[in-house]
Amino acid sequence: MKSTKNIKKIMLMALATAMIAGGCGQGTSDKKDSAVTPTEAAKPQPVVLPVRSVPSDTLHVEKVESLKDEFILGMDVSSVISLEKGGVKYYDFDGKETDLFKILSDAGVNYIRVRVWNDPFDKNGNGYGGGNCDINTAVEIGKRATANGMRLLVDFHYSDFWADPGKQMVPKAWKGMDIDTKKEALYDFTKESLEKLKAAGVDVGMVQLGNETNGAMCGEKVWMNIYYLMDAGSRATREVFPNALIAVHFTNPEKVTNIADYAKKLNYYNLDYDVFASSYYPFWHGTLDNLATVLSNVAETYGKMVMVAETSYAFTAEDTDFFGNTISGGSAVTKNYPYTVQGQATCFRDVVDTIANRTKNGIGVFYWEGAWISAGGKNYEENHALWEKNGSGWASSYAKEYDPNDAGKYSGGSAVDNQAFFDSTGHVLESLKVFGLVRNGSSGEVKADAIQDTELIIDVNGEIELPKKVNAVMTDGSKKELDVEWLNVDYEKMKSNGAARYEIKGIAGGMEARCVVSMIEFNFLENYSFEEGEKGWTATSKNPIDELYVEDKSTDSLTGTKHFHFWADKTKSVDFDLEQEVKNLPAGNYKFSISLMGGDAENVNAYAYVKKNGQVIAKGPTNITSYNEWHEGKIPHFEVETGDAITVGIHVECSPKGNGSWGKIDDALLNTVSD
Ligand code: CA
Repeated sequence: MKSTKNIKKIMLMALATAMIAGGCGQGTSDKKDSAVTPTEAAKPQPVVLPVRSVPSDTLHVEKVESLKDEFILGMDVSSVISLEKGGVKYYDFDGKETDLFKILSDAGVNYIRVRVWNDPFDKNGNGYGGGNCDINTAVEIGKRATANGMRLLVDFHYSDFWADPGKQMVPKAWKGMDIDTKKEALYDFTKESLEKLKAAGVDVGMVQLGNETNGAMCGEKVWMNIYYLMDAGSRATREVFPNALIAVHFTNPEKVTNIADYAKKLNYYNLDYDVFASSYYPFWHGTLDNLATVLSNVAETYGKMVMVAETSYAFTAEDTDFFGNTISGGSAVTKNYPYTVQGQATCFRDVVDTIANRTKNGIGVFYWEGAWISAGGKNYEENHALWEKNGSGWASSYAKEYDPNDAGKYSGGSAVDNQAFFDSTGHVLESLKVFGLVRNGSSGEVKADAIQDTELIIDVNGEIELPKKVNAVMTDGSKKELDVEWLNVDYEKMKSNGAARYEIKGIAGGMEARCVVSMIEFNFLENYSFEEGEKGWTATSKNPIDELYVEDKSTDSLTGTKHFHFWADKTKSVDFDLEQEVKNLPAGNYKFSISLMGGDAENVNAYAYVKKNGQVIAKGPTNITSYNEWHEGKIPHFEVETGDAITVGIHVECSPKGNGSWGKIDDALLNTVSD
């Protein structure tokens, strides 16, 4: 088996060499040899990078042990030029307006990542958005990165707009090309783009061949074709930047076998690359343990370096640019990290620790779009105008021609402004300091960072008891119970107002705490809305009728998707009881109601009833009129003593009109009443 595989490899390599020789017809043979088959010794390696950091009085960062100076702590800022065109400015830790790249570099960011789209413009020159990132934008970003002592990762999407597992669309100019023509076009495009960066003096440290290429790239879905294209990009990169690392990039590390399969495919075709990268968004992509296992497996099996090419986390649940965000709601404390400045820093720190210490051959982590803040307008209309004009939103309306199904429908602003390291006015957040502080740690005071909301459901006739403690996440990531003081609680009002919802504020650990109290009427019936089928209910019909069962049809239900249904054709009359026995009902005062709707019936005798020890003790009339007219049969008050056997139900009796009578029964409620 082994030898067969090796033969295949050799044949493929020979094929690749032959293709170059016969392909574009440029360059000399000795150049080709070194480009296509570099010896192990000649393979590029990560280089030592400058170490910088800004101290923090408040941030708590656990030191990441044995972090090498060449470890990449990178950030993607591809949207920045578009934002700056619209007037966005960035401010440093002293509140002084400063070049974004200097702020990043000072804080310890040592690498910048930039995406490159082939031609993200329509024929009138209007940008598709997402930073309108063509190679000229990348050159501008690369120059500023280099000027501030940071290296550049060039992320070729090989598309005119976003490439991810959902879309890998071929650039307009390459549409309809056969694979041989397309791979030459990709080679030329890669080479010309990189030469522009080289001519501008940009310090390119890494080149990425495709973005999140989970089984597709540049319109191709067959692995041999994907390989041909990646190989063309790889050859072009080796020629222009022989010392740059070549990366491939996939996502969904939680799908363990998929990642292993991508690496296996690239090995089968013997692609010349150095770094196997994955995205890792903690709210989507499984655990850090899994990430470490999946990437270590690739590193060990194929001898590759590995890294995280994209990660991010929110510092707030709030949106600031009038365009919804990918993560927002939810209780802060039930997530692994609260949506706080500290939580954002801790999350990044833990990803770095995972790649540096728990992943074989881990070389770095890139944060995705850490400066993509609000475009700068005061409302949706102003921001929308800026997104359209400068491409500072994720997609402009002009992208519709290229991406009609997504950008065409949902164009707009930044979906990650709450995951940036800057607030909506461009002022840097303390969390950015984590980039430098991971190297030596930082011990800010350990105090409450986020308080978990408390939710209580209380019977309107029960006792209102608010919790004495609340759950908190501390700035060092530990979880604690803290004493809480609830403020301005009007117990009398809550007791007398019936069913209602209250939001109560309090103080715990110096922070605001919140308790949401729902005063509800407790329902003593099980399966009150028939969502669990006939469970708990018994139907007894005097006459056999055609249909008598629980139906799953939300349009005919009062609540939920199910209800109890009956139908009898025009030859039959209806006469049935539907009831539930309630065991061990506590002594007290109760009410009962149940709802009915239907049609094509006359001589209706329908009522809700209560039976005590086998005898009907109360009836509440209801009716059948027409579709969607629900009628509630109600018994407002009855008494129960200890040991009483209670059954509640509905009696339905009618004769047919027209084609036959029918009806729907839903929402049986048995609640206490106060007197
Ligand atoms: Ca937003």
